[in-house]
Amino acid sequence: MAFNQVLDQKVVKKILSGALRKNLLASSYLFYGDQGTGKWAMALELAKAINCERDQKEACDVCSSCQKIDKMIHPDVKVIFPIPSARSEETNQKEIERFKKLKMANPYTIVRFERNVNIPVEQIRAMQREICLKPFEGKRKVIIIAEAENMHISSANSLLKILEEPPQDANLILTAHNPNKLLPTVISRCQQIRFGKIPSSIIEEKLMQDHHLKEEKASFYANISNGSYGKALDFLQQEKEVLRQDALNLLGMATEGKTSQIIQMVNQVLERWDRNSILEMFEIFGSLLRDIYMTQEGFSNKLINSDMRDHVLKLSEKFQRQNKVEHALQVIEQVRLNCQIRNASQKLGLLNLCLQLRALAKRDELCLI
Ligand SMILES: [Zn+2]
Repeated sequence: MAFNQVLDQKVVKKILSGALRKNLLASSYLFYGDQGTGKWAMALELAKAINCERDQKEACDVCSSCQKIDKMIHPDVKVIFPIPSARSEETNQKEIERFKKLKMANPYTIVRFERNVNIPVEQIRAMQREICLKPFEGKRKVIIIAEAENMHISSANSLLKILEEPPQDANLILTAHNPNKLLPTVISRCQQIRFGKIPSSIIEEKLMQDHHLKEEKASFYANISNGSYGKALDFLQQEKEVLRQDALNLLGMATEGKTSQIIQMVNQVLERWDRNSILEMFEIFGSLLRDIYMTQEGFSNKLINSDMRDHVLKLSEKFQRQNKVEHALQVIEQVRLNCQIRNASQKLGLLNLCLQLRALAKRDELCLI
């Protein structure tokens, strides 16, 4: 049952399920509520339910239509979302792909942009032309306009014309976390559906289930995210960035620091991170070493940690001699397994790893703990 993939929002589900069952869908909806509460997730599920080939009044998730909508490649389901203004067509396309990729990975992701964004009038006009055509292969055309409050006044006026005379074979779904910025005439022509805060117990459970967080940590993120699963994911992502930076710093220290400095940094890392995070750190070490290998093989455009390219290049110089990176990867894997499966001390594991990496980076110097 696809609506079950949307967290909580019982009232919303009841309204939309009822409308689907009775064939009484509104031609235009406005889903509004805080960011990360499931508006986008529900818009996609509704588009799937409308077009599902199995006709169960909810998406089956397995038919060709449901799968195409999940991948955002269904010809009758169009998604429009804000993009940074005044950029080249090529950059716009990249932003669109980035948005889709992030939302496909997790519909609750809050996509951030470096610059101010808007929904250009050209996008609305193109949609206006298309919406009048018969569906290509689906039952109805569905247009989802995400973060619709970012429409230019000219875009909003163009949209208004569609809302005033909605085509028979189409549904529009607008989402907005700040509906006050929308034209009142746009709001009044949509059926408004409010997305409330998600109870923290549900966010906590989801974090434990999908991100394998311990109860205490999941509870912390659930409580500070104020009813938004998207924000909880945001906090988690920020924490992962700090963890990644710590891993890079430790790797740098391991290749050129003194033993006393390495011990000091390992102690700091162990104070800051819990057991699961340290295990994750081993995986980050692995990804950095793989990037070093790719750099040495001349594929520096294919790095996992592409934002850390300069650091990777610098580290790459430390592991110049043949087989050094492969050896370092073996060491990391061995220490990771010792800590994860054999429950070895993480402190000893990290120290051992750092000193072995230093030995590899500084030719074959013998290092003892
Ligand atoms: Zn289906």
